[in-house]
Amino acid sequence: MNYVSTRGKAPDLAFDDVLLTGLARDGGLYVPDAWPTLSGADIKAMNGLSYAETAFRVIRPFVGDSINEGDLATIIDDTYAGFDHPDVAPLKTLAAGEHLMELFHGPTLAFKDYAMQFLGRMFDHVLAKRGERVTIVVATSGDTGPAALEACRGRDAIDIFNLYPDGRVSEVQRRQMTTVNESNVHNIAVRGTFDDCQNMVKAMFNDQPFRDRYRLSAVNSINWARVMAQIVYYFYGSARVTGGAHPVSFAVPTGNFGNVFAGYAAARIGLPIDKLIVGTNRNDILSRFFESGLMQTGTVHPTISPSMDIQISSNFERLLFELYGRDSTVVRAIMNTFKDTGDFAVGPKQMATARQLFVSARFDDDETKKTIRDVYEQSGELIDPHSAIGIAAGRACRGNTDIPLISLATAHPAKFPDAVEAACGVRPELPARLSDLFQRDERFTVLDNDLAAVQDFVSTALPGTA
Ligand SMILES: *Cc1c(COP(=O)(O)O)cnc(C)c1O
Repeated sequence: MNYVSTRGKAPDLAFDDVLLTGLARDGGLYVPDAWPTLSGADIKAMNGLSYAETAFRVIRPFVGDSINEGDLATIIDDTYAGFDHPDVAPLKTLAAGEHLMELFHGPTLAFKDYAMQFLGRMFDHVLAKRGERVTIVVATSGDTGPAALEACRGRDAIDIFNLYPDGRVSEVQRRQMTTVNESNVHNIAVRGTFDDCQNMVKAMFNDQPFRDRYRLSAVNSINWARVMAQIVYYFYGSARVTGGAHPVSFAVPTGNFGNVFAGYAAARIGLPIDKLIVGTNRNDILSRFFESGLMQTGTVHPTISPSMDIQISSNFERLLFELYGRDSTVVRAIMNTFKDTGDFAVGPKQMATARQLFVSARFDDDETKKTIRDVYEQSGELIDPHSAIGIAAGRACRGNTDIPLISLATAHPAKFPDAVEAACGVRPELPARLSDLFQRDERFTVLDNDLAAVQDFVSTALPGTA
């Protein structure tokens, strides 16, 4: 299988090159040149399989000949063996026909581990085979950084530089980054905002000599391999709830549209899905879009669900490509308009197609806290603010209650203890694997919001690279 860019001006690539490339050279995103399909019988045969076995069956067609099957199976087994629940993505029942899939049993307690742990291993495997190294640079507002560092720590072929805004991430999040004590891990606390960090990462990618000298690479959610690894739990959840034979709906708290796009991909390759319910916080660009057909950025407001404080949903471009019948000329024009004006509109025909599958709702911080409280009172489950937005959206939008609903719990409540305690009076405790987090030594370097200073820091840390 090959991959094509949504903007049609970058070379087609095989899976292993897409993995290492991340963003296409024309600014677009890579997608499979055709969707593989799993038959009804294939899907029913996943009933009762372990998470790793399910992952192998879902991922294999996307990888094609890039990685041999034995190696792929080993990498997948190794990835999920380190998760701290035997089911990897366990399901709980909140009410009749309403389920919660916990995606926080990886090392950093957020769903990003499910793809990132796989990505780190895949990078190492492909790079070792080629005898190459890469330097990963990542900007984080709090959840991507820890997941990326845990995935890359100690890997032979990778150095990773992690930029986060000094003083603007939670203490748990900061410690999850700064206590990763490995010589290939470099934490930079930037005297600035998340946007400043993001802009410096983009600038380093745009500095071609720098980019080439250090072989920069990206693990953010525009990397196709992350979306791919997230398709798995839609199949797994559906198999656990219905045996895979009947439609289910999924409620997904959404920021960059990566997670819920993986749900769309699951539907495209054959999983029976009734609705994909997109929950947003006050930063409601996506909810407004599904109501009006107009995508329009605004200012980012801080909320108690900070990993969704986003006003540009990068992965949406992949859906746009599908809605316009994979016409990269149209996508290119729309994305150019968006860059110039900060908005674009999608036609009525395309919106009708989108609305067959997607519905959306937004919730402010008070509504989010109320959902945390309600769920705790109804079922005794503590949920984090992001997961609460998914549950609230699911309850508001599911429509036909005969169809089972699975809400995705994207973070462990102990990642956001203050918000959870304020909502329901109970302070969630860190799981055993992180219980000594506040005793571990921290390592980080504070730098000004200055590109030259950050680039100097990279050059000094990697003296052998010329
Ligand atoms: C990243 C994140 C999200 C948003 O996921 P997207 O793929 O960007 O839509 C939601 N919840 C949590 C806890 C996250 O870390």
